[in-house]
Amino acid sequence: MIKIENLKAQVESKKILKWVSLDFEIGKNYCLLWRNGSGKSTLSSILMWNPKYEITEWTIKIGKKNLLNLSPSERSKEGLFLSFQNVPEIAWIKLSEFLRTIYNIHLKNTKPEVKELSPFIFKRFVKKYLEELSIDESFLNRDLNVWFSGGEKRKIEILQMKLINPRYIILDEIDSGLDLDAFRDVVRLLEWLNDETNTLIVITHYFKILDYIDMDKIYIMQDWRIIKEGWKELVEVIKNNGYKNLWD
Ligand code: ADP
Ligand code: MG
Repeated sequence: MIKIENLKAQVESKKILKWVSLDFEIGKNYCLLWRNGSGKSTLSSILMWNPKYEITEWTIKIGKKNLLNLSPSERSKEGLFLSFQNVPEIAWIKLSEFLRTIYNIHLKNTKPEVKELSPFIFKRFVKKYLEELSIDESFLNRDLNVWFSGGEKRKIEILQMKLINPRYIILDEIDSGLDLDAFRDVVRLLEWLNDETNTLIVITHYFKILDYIDMDKIYIMQDWRIIKEGWKELVEVIKNNGYKNLWD
């Protein structure tokens, strides 16, 4: 479980988050429906690690550990995965080598007795996943995300999740910048990935994704605070009346 209590964060004396308290249990899905500029990316990058933000009062626990004392790689070992709002492009790193490296690190952490996969074996192993994602094998020889379309970048992120099996998956506006077909593809793949061993934390200001992925809880934010939490009935209210009545 991730438990955030009274998180306050600021950057260059500008307050971004104030008294934010949230819980995420494994096996459940959450949606943070927050408006633009309300601190969605701030929260997700604080969870994964970002020294830019000054965190003034807080507790964030992941299991029994204090999350903020952990390095990014320790957070990853605890099962945290962040899908970035803007997926970085990294030239000179081949997709196949990147995927093989993260997979082998994951193997070392979880099954130290298993030998790491060679480039040849890894390519054979990853092929079945590429088929599921409808990504051509030739992508393996390309630089990581460089000139990939928005939908292709998302699919590669989902492939990373499939390989390392994270417990807490933070999706920062995974629904933005995709056309309808790419959006449906991504949602189908998230359904493929989502089971009782993991938790999707869907951060968005757009509720179309709620038509596709079952949520256990929805948190709504205003003025740097969580103002409402609820389930499906809250979505119905928003669909019928928009956000207006919730905020006004
Ligand atoms: P969201 O992802 O919900 O759109 P962000 O978390 O990106 O919002 O940002 C919340 C607010 O904090 C915005 O007004 C943004 O301009 C501001 N902000 C975020 N990071 C910084 C920064 N490094 N320097 C100055 N302002 C920032
Ligand atoms: Mg953002």
